[in-house]
Amino acid sequence: MSSWIERTACFYGCDLNRWLGQFSDGLTPAEYGFDLDLSDQVRALMSAWSAIPLENLPSPSDASRLLPQNGRLAFCEQCWNEDVRRKRQPYIRRSWLNWTTVHCVNHRDFLSSKNRSVDRGAPNIIWQDVWTSKANWRNALHLEPRGFVAGTLWCKMPARFSPCTEQLMRSLERLADPCDAQAHEALDRVSATWRSCVPLNEQADIPVLLENRVEMLSQAAALLVTDLSQ
Ligand SMILES: [Zn+2]
Repeated sequence: MSSWIERTACFYGCDLNRWLGQFSDGLTPAEYGFDLDLSDQVRALMSAWSAIPLENLPSPSDASRLLPQNGRLAFCEQCWNEDVRRKRQPYIRRSWLNWTTVHCVNHRDFLSSKNRSVDRGAPNIIWQDVWTSKANWRNALHLEPRGFVAGTLWCKMPARFSPCTEQLMRSLERLADPCDAQAHEALDRVSATWRSCVPLNEQADIPVLLENRVEMLSQAAALLVTDLSQ
């Protein structure tokens, strides 16, 4: 839903936060710290504003696997290139927002990640700056080129993780499936270990950064393979 809203903002030549500011009067105070990918009120407001029936708007995400708002940084560069080749605009897939998804099932590779420092604690991740960084994405969204940006906006998975083997890919697909009970158990085991290793002042239920998630899910994948071979 956040991706849909941001692409609408691009259409009107706005950035996401300025665009959302226009709608803040329509939200109750409780929704003001809203999560764009979960909020029913934001969906209803967008439906009323755009005259698009609610059922045709992106449905809410799976809250149980959703990354925190400032951690939804992953994307597949090749999916976006393909979007453009198919005369569509690049957009964020719902599955990329889940902490258990670190790979692209279509392109058989790890996802890339926007650098976390770029948004520095802002409530919503802004994609317009990343979309502007490549001519094909920028043109598909009718964005203007921008000047020099210090540092990198986004990066591919470090080479030490690549290539993602076929076996690991199959396990990752199982781990991303909320209905796979055995995968669920493997995730619970590695999550418990991870929580016990994280310093108390950095306490969180799940790792947020893509690299950390790849490491944790690789451990869960190893457990799955071991369990299967027994
Ligand atoms: Zn892809």
